[in-house]
Amino acid sequence: MSVAFKPLVPEATLGVLGGGQLGRMWVHAAQSMGFQTVVLDPDPQSPAGLVSHRHIQTDYLDPVGLEQLAAACQAATTEFENVPADALAQLAEKIQVAPNAHAVAVAQDRRLEKAHFVKCGVPVAPFAVIASDADLDLVLKQNESHVAEKTRPEHVSSSANPDGNIKTNINSKSSGVSLLPGILKTARMGYDGKGQVRVRNAQELVDAFKKLGGVPCVLEKMLPLKAEYSVIVARGHDGAMVHLPIQHNVHRDGILAMTQVWLGVCDSALEIQAINAAKSIAQELQYIGVLCVEFFVLEDNTLVVNEIAPRPHNSGHYSLDACDISQFELQLRCMAGLPLTQPRQHSPSVMLNLLGDIWPAIKSGNGQSQTLEKLGSEPNLFGTDKLGSDPNFSNLPPWEKVLALPGTHLHLYGKSDARKGRKMGHLTITASTADRAGAIANQAATILGIAAF
Ligand code: ADP
Ligand code: MG
Repeated sequence: MSVAFKPLVPEATLGVLGGGQLGRMWVHAAQSMGFQTVVLDPDPQSPAGLVSHRHIQTDYLDPVGLEQLAAACQAATTEFENVPADALAQLAEKIQVAPNAHAVAVAQDRRLEKAHFVKCGVPVAPFAVIASDADLDLVLKQNESHVAEKTRPEHVSSSANPDGNIKTNINSKSSGVSLLPGILKTARMGYDGKGQVRVRNAQELVDAFKKLGGVPCVLEKMLPLKAEYSVIVARGHDGAMVHLPIQHNVHRDGILAMTQVWLGVCDSALEIQAINAAKSIAQELQYIGVLCVEFFVLEDNTLVVNEIAPRPHNSGHYSLDACDISQFELQLRCMAGLPLTQPRQHSPSVMLNLLGDIWPAIKSGNGQSQTLEKLGSEPNLFGTDKLGSDPNFSNLPPWEKVLALPGTHLHLYGKSDARKGRKMGHLTITASTADRAGAIANQAATILGIAAF
């Protein structure tokens, strides 16, 4: 039995499960509105824990930690989709919790997630669940028969489902669409392209399933992507929904590299379709909180939903600087039962992710990671270190050059250990026009040693 929602006002205490950068930016939003904050994360150096009023350092399912969190705050949320849904369910018996455990459980498992999309009637990539060797055999057999079908004369095969009929969008077991080449994704725990293997043929699929440890997976057909977008919706406890403008995302090596947001960044009919799909996904889940829905636009301009994140999202970080309400404030308002008003973007914007790759020691290949310990310095809140303030010691990216460009907003997450592929911060560029934002983003990228977009 969950606790009923009531509006919480500052100086109530609000809590978050997970202490990463998303939690840190949520803490900033909560504190600026006058709330007290408490973070539960086992890492003593977690980015959110470092800036919160209170930091409970236990595992997410530790009964003592959860008890302390429930006693310390009146409402809790999550910032990390791999926080066990059960932790949210336990908290919900005592305090108001958003999003609910069921919605998080759906987002945590690609099988449930895909079934939810199908239920909502939103298009998904053709897929099959592979949870056992028997499932694998079935998919391989299907693929064989599909290949055989394709090699028959055209007039014979025309009665079969056409190859690439991605609009069918149902599990391939019933659609007969070939899933190869495809992407094998673990059903759980994947992020930033981790837990995924691209497979071109049957043998590669067999090898990939083995490589991923035989854990339950989803095989998705590799789609011809023209572009990737995301939509962030926020749904309050009264069912009211608002959204941020559609975001155009560019990934590199499976990690988000850049997001562009401005009027016209997406065809308006597709934008409406995406916003409606995102809202129906949230509505069907009876979702409370901020939900990000990732989409593909295919070469034939069809829209396909990829996945959801039950929390603010990397692609929504620009909203801190380019919108009158950020995704973190939306999260806060949802969990605190406060009114939602439709956000307004006031500046065209580009967000560049700042990965550990651009730290000089990593760029030069000088060691696997650049830790403060190695540099003999204490961690601080700014993702920098004492040596970084010495202009003769260039162990940090040239922030001062980037900040000399107009409309640049630097956000560092306080992580002391720069590693390849690790999200250390982001840079938002706001400008009066889209062209100007794009040009300044490319200048900043060049200064930082990020390949131009
Ligand atoms: P993650 O949880 O790591 O973000 P995604 O499922 O979003 O996993 O996949 C990461 C990236 O891989 C996507 O943003 C997209 O660029 C690419 N990708 C994923 N699925 C497909 C697909 N079916 N067809 C083509 N590209 C895909
Ligand atoms: Mg993704």
